[in-house]
Amino acid sequence: MFGGSPLNRLSWLRSSPAFLNGIIASPKSRWILFNAGQPLLLTKPDSPNGSLAFLSTPQVRPFLGEEPFFNQGQTAGSVVPTGQESHFTEAVRHNGQPIVFLGLHESTTNGHGALPSSDFSSKSTDAESVIAKIDGTPYFSMDVADLDVNEEEMNKSFKETGAIKDGEKLGWGDPRALMTTMSSFDGAVYAEARSMTDWNWRNKFCPGCGSKQYSLWGGWKLACSSLLPWADNSNRKPCPSGKGLHNYAHPRTDCVVIMCAVDQTGEKILLGRSRKFPMKFYSALAGFIEPGETFEAAVRREMWEEAGVSVWDVTYHSGQPWPYPANLMCGFYCRADSGKQVRVDLDNELVDARWYTREEIRGVLGMREGTRLDYRRITEMERREMEGKKEEMERRRRRRRGYRMSAKEKEKEKEATTNAVEEPPFRVPPTTAIAGVLIRDWAEERVKFPPVEVGQSVGVANL
Ligand SMILES: [Zn+2]
Repeated sequence: MFGGSPLNRLSWLRSSPAFLNGIIASPKSRWILFNAGQPLLLTKPDSPNGSLAFLSTPQVRPFLGEEPFFNQGQTAGSVVPTGQESHFTEAVRHNGQPIVFLGLHESTTNGHGALPSSDFSSKSTDAESVIAKIDGTPYFSMDVADLDVNEEEMNKSFKETGAIKDGEKLGWGDPRALMTTMSSFDGAVYAEARSMTDWNWRNKFCPGCGSKQYSLWGGWKLACSSLLPWADNSNRKPCPSGKGLHNYAHPRTDCVVIMCAVDQTGEKILLGRSRKFPMKFYSALAGFIEPGETFEAAVRREMWEEAGVSVWDVTYHSGQPWPYPANLMCGFYCRADSGKQVRVDLDNELVDARWYTREEIRGVLGMREGTRLDYRRITEMERREMEGKKEEMERRRRRRRGYRMSAKEKEKEKEATTNAVEEPPFRVPPTTAIAGVLIRDWAEERVKFPPVEVGQSVGVANL
């Protein structure tokens, strides 16, 4: 989930206003809108949870501001004058909300279109006919939080433009609720869109001098407005971002290592329980990689800090973009000695960490409720569990006092036992999260871990 981007991002065309202004007008273009990080969802009578809404350019036109959308000159409606073009005006957009060009989903029959940048250089007069021939769906996104959109008025306007039919509704939704229902295509486009719009929306001011920042490169760069050719910089110190190589702000990707330790026998796995997790939930350990660290060093440090465990043989498994807001989860296995004591008191991030056998993990994976991570369901399960505990305590109290149940009460208790959903002894993440994949792949022996001597490295051959 969230990985395997299906789009050709055409990054070499992000600096071309001829390309961006052309393709944004394409009737095939589709948009994902956000409001403070919440995506626009389309709900229909038969799908009340909703799905990601993909709108056309005419449908989102009220949010886009004045044309030109890219290559904006100093005054609204003007373009960058000849002679003032520079690195700081490449597809400049300083009026209106930042727009992100996500990429092109090319038709599978024709494969990759080459689209060399020379087709869209200022000397080319035929950008329009090149765009008309592009085979595929261009994707854009933007966050409209700063436009203070009224949801009711928005739906009225969408109804008028034919974006929604009777009984359908567009509204801002909880992005995490989508996890279980989103297709892998939607998930991958959504992950890119969410991280990019979030970054554009939150970074409004230059970190060097506090001036406003503006958007370049179809939403992929931000620069300080003191660097615009028409900026009035009299009576002020030059912005430090104008010096040397640090001229732009680029989108962030924050690397997180996430890992499972497998013990020397290969038959046990170490999982931890954060204090933020719902009841009975155990997962892989994780932490941000710090400056000056390799992946391997970060895995070793985090395992020691969180569980007091020394590990060896750190091996990469796979990665997952996690757009909350811009993480890249890097999944690893490592080996550790399960005979040594586990301790969670060093950095106190976990409330518990323990070794589970393959049999225990397989048992939980085989249960319907074992990998449910729908928060509404979890709350319901927790409520049932609390109620069950309360009832059990009440029964014990009554028994101690010599209370004898009536036939009716006995019948009720029997009925409750029969109807009870089988509760797992603990829960692990579903495979929509990389932690769930790491746990499953070990449990089902998709990745082999032969027994090793404690501390003895077997290199990467064990993957
Ligand atoms: Zn600045």
